[in-house]
Amino acid sequence: MDMSPALVPVIGLEIHVQLKTATKLFCGCSAKFGDEPNSNVCPVCLGHPGALPVLNKKAIDFAILLGIACNSTISGKSLFERKNYFYPDLPKGYQISQLEKPVCLGGYIFAGDKKIALNRIHVEEDAGKSIHLHDGTTAIDLNRSGVPLLEIVTEPVICSAAEAVEFLSSLRTIVRYLDICDGNMEEGSLRCDANVSVMPAGSGILGVKTEIKNMNSFRNTEKAINYEIERQTELILDGGKVTQETLLWDPDSGSARIMRSKEESNDYRYFPDPDLVEFSISGEWTEQLKMIMPEMPRARFDRYVKDHSLSPYDAGVITQSRELADFYEAVASITSDFKSSANWIMTDVLRLLNERKITVNQFPVPPEEIASLINMINSGEISNKIAKMVFDEIADSGEKAADLIERKNLRQISDSAGLEKMIDEVIARHPAQAEEFRAGKEKVFGFFIGQIMKESRGKANPKLVNIILSGKLGKSAVGN
Ligand SMILES: [Zn+2]
Repeated sequence: MDMSPALVPVIGLEIHVQLKTATKLFCGCSAKFGDEPNSNVCPVCLGHPGALPVLNKKAIDFAILLGIACNSTISGKSLFERKNYFYPDLPKGYQISQLEKPVCLGGYIFAGDKKIALNRIHVEEDAGKSIHLHDGTTAIDLNRSGVPLLEIVTEPVICSAAEAVEFLSSLRTIVRYLDICDGNMEEGSLRCDANVSVMPAGSGILGVKTEIKNMNSFRNTEKAINYEIERQTELILDGGKVTQETLLWDPDSGSARIMRSKEESNDYRYFPDPDLVEFSISGEWTEQLKMIMPEMPRARFDRYVKDHSLSPYDAGVITQSRELADFYEAVASITSDFKSSANWIMTDVLRLLNERKITVNQFPVPPEEIASLINMINSGEISNKIAKMVFDEIADSGEKAADLIERKNLRQISDSAGLEKMIDEVIARHPAQAEEFRAGKEKVFGFFIGQIMKESRGKANPKLVNIILSGKLGKSAVGN
């Protein structure tokens, strides 16, 4: 029997986040995605000799913002270096990046309840894009050349593919809250590479790692990492050895192929870019950015659970996106009824968002109208059922809830004299059932409630009906 300890995976991630700046990192060209190929270029981002880079301060602002959100240390001095390698979509023959003095050091991001330690966050420029055509030729689009990126590097502390995806999801929520990246993995604005190795449980000595690239969705990230963990585990159990190499994930076949081995790995010969001097990040600069920081998802989550008494599940769903959380708060600030406000967001608002495939910003019913429906339910003016109907209708028409309720006369009947008359009539029409009830058949109470609601076309105030009917039939009120 094999008594050797089980092999456990160790994963570190390197994530590239494309920044939402208007212009590129070192020139004034537009950083927009999807423009006509090679239309946003100039001598600087084409790497013409003699062209000089000028740093875009906004990109450093964004790096500092992410550093604050991740509890990183913001470096007092930072520096850009040249990372030298040759590739067709890299016209300069080097990429401007950071090695020795990145903008942020350390910090952490939560994956579920686990703190995942970060090694660093640095700023660098993107390369161009090679487009492989069907006829075997390759076209190059240099619009992306020089677009600012943040690279977030974790420590090798992630224990499973699922945890890696949880980390990635938290990071995406954070960059979206900060509004520094759109987080779209399919379009490449969030790219993830994983370093994967396996080691005997409890050993503490890391095995040989491989790097796996090109995972363009959460699902592919999870699949690719699991694939690589399994491959390495089988290899070692069969007496083989893992060799250090870079693998390219192929989502179509669900497997990875070798991109380069260690022997072919680049020596990047980093050195400080002589055209860009070392720059200081003052405490004042960081303090100013702290003042414009939005409340981050985790802080909101804690506040909703603690101060609004929402369940962790509800708070988690609502804080998924900053827009949805803002929408919830806009409703709750008017109603002061946190539970009902959350319920409307979780059911009706999310349902309509999914059905119509729209964003929160395009939502057809303003928060004030939802708040008004909740307030009218709470004051007994309309029933819950009527409120849902009104919601669906105003989502189509854009009418105000109060106007529609007035126009269609949907208010609940809460006038006791009117209700009493109606209830008397219903009882008079069904003497046999009234007799049955008085003889102890309690179920008949529900029959009367049904008849009265029908008579009032759903508008009778159920609480009042319950009290009056109980009185008439000689029974203590059911519920409250
Ligand atoms: Zn340019």
